[in-house]
Amino acid sequence: MEVDLIIHNARQLVTCSSNGKAKKGRQMQDIGIIENGAVAVKDGVIAAVGKSDKVLREFKAENAVDANQQVICPAFVECHTHLVFAGNRLDEFELKIKGADYLEILEAGGGILSTVKKTHEACLAELVEQSQKRLDKMLELGVTTCEVKTGYGLNLETELKMLDAIAELDKIHPIDIIPTFLGAHAVSPEFKGREDEFINLICEEMLPVIADVRKCELNFKGTFKNKPFFVDVFCEKNAFNLEQSKKVLLAAKGLGFGLKAHVDEFTNLGCARFAIENGATSIDHLDATSEEEIALLAKSKTIGVITPTVNFNFGSCEFADARKMIDAGCAIALSTDFNPGSAPCPSLPFAMAIACRYQKLLPSEALNAVTINAAFAVGWSEKIGSIEVGKQADILVLDTNDYRQIAYEFGSNAVEQVIKKGKLIIDKNE
Ligand SMILES: [Zn+2]
Repeated sequence: MEVDLIIHNARQLVTCSSNGKAKKGRQMQDIGIIENGAVAVKDGVIAAVGKSDKVLREFKAENAVDANQQVICPAFVECHTHLVFAGNRLDEFELKIKGADYLEILEAGGGILSTVKKTHEACLAELVEQSQKRLDKMLELGVTTCEVKTGYGLNLETELKMLDAIAELDKIHPIDIIPTFLGAHAVSPEFKGREDEFINLICEEMLPVIADVRKCELNFKGTFKNKPFFVDVFCEKNAFNLEQSKKVLLAAKGLGFGLKAHVDEFTNLGCARFAIENGATSIDHLDATSEEEIALLAKSKTIGVITPTVNFNFGSCEFADARKMIDAGCAIALSTDFNPGSAPCPSLPFAMAIACRYQKLLPSEALNAVTINAAFAVGWSEKIGSIEVGKQADILVLDTNDYRQIAYEFGSNAVEQVIKKGKLIIDKNE
């Protein structure tokens, strides 16, 4: 049979195949290795997966990639980012090193509100240009699907500008983008002391507009039409309390959005339980999540997303207890949380390196956490996250003959070739 592309001669073809379910508990160690493996691709979709000699016998292709006895694995899925923003926080970085605390940084004009200000001031083209460079770095590091949140607008106009930027990036960049509306990221300064009014504005004015805009194909260039679309909330001290977070999640659920929630990053306010019970696709951070909530997560379809780059960035040695979560039977995904304040990090392999060392994930668990489980965390598991027949051909060839190298050698990049929808778009051999 004629196909478009065959990638063959992999010492390890890591499939991360999952039979349609997220990997939970002990299953997270199973990455489905085929030795001397090959993949055949037709029309951007995986047509066959198996031993090289068999695939080469049964299929013929004009284009072939010889993996040279190295590793082939699914391209990475980044399931939690805030990568559309303007400017940087370099001054704040230096202040923090010198020991400034949260309030001093705010007084010096730093913190999230400084990014909100710069994002307000940037025009759409500037926002797209700056964000595109961040996506380029992620692509080189093996990411071919990325969730991106709004949340530096804090008013409808700028939130819509951010969604426009996300749509434009989805159109012009090889990385597929999954959009999330995070209107409830921080309290707008104009609403200081009137947080409930701000929440009402989000639920009654912003969310219905976003829901309407999404439906119309003319808006956002139609790029969101066939994609999951999430609403997220930051439930935390100095952000939104449980009652306010519940309001946002319930309003979003009523309008048909998928749900995500930032929970337990510093303080446990009880949002994990509420989000799980309301069918959230993912709950993210989980640093202060209780044992009872971990048990609830294990029984649910919700994915727990850990973001150890944030703890690393704070210089902290305390991390979410992902080992306990996996041992309890949870499905865990791993993300960089790429953002200008708490995690200016585009590298999922680096997040894997931290997760293995400080959260005691095995390299196999870390790999499933950035592929198939991350695909579930963005609600797109039928399309991406594993090398299985019928899925989009988003595939990496690595510069190693053992997948454990990805998490083992930190600070370098083992990604040698990136194949997106069956096209070789990065080739370091050239
Ligand atoms: Zn976040």
